[in-house]
Amino acid sequence: MSRIVIEKELCKGCEYCVTYCPKQLIHIGTAFNSMGFKYAVPEDKEGQCTACGICALMCPDAAIEVYQTEK
Ligand code: SF4
Ligand code: SF4
Repeated sequence: MSRIVIEKELCKGCEYCVTYCPKQLIHIGTAFNSMGFKYAVPEDKEGQCTACGICALMCPDAAIEVYQTEK
C-alpha cells in the first residue's frame, strides 16, 4: 500500500500535484497555512495511490513525500 504526505507549511497551492496525479488523489483544501495559502490535501482513497511519484516530482516546493509499504 502506498501513501503520500504533504507538508502543508511548504505548500503554496499551485495545484501542480492536483493536475498531474493520474489517480486524482489530491485536492486543494479550504484551510490556509501560516503563509496564507490554501494547501494541497491527499484524498483518502484506500489502495488507489500507486507510489508513481509524479506528484512529488512536480511539486516545486518539495512538499510531498511518497511512501510505499510492503504488501
Ligand atoms: S504517488 Fe502518484 S498516484 Fe500517488 S498521489 Fe502521487 S501522483 Fe497520485
Ligand atoms: S505541487 Fe506542491 S506546492 Fe503545488 S499544490 Fe501540490 S504540494 Fe502544494
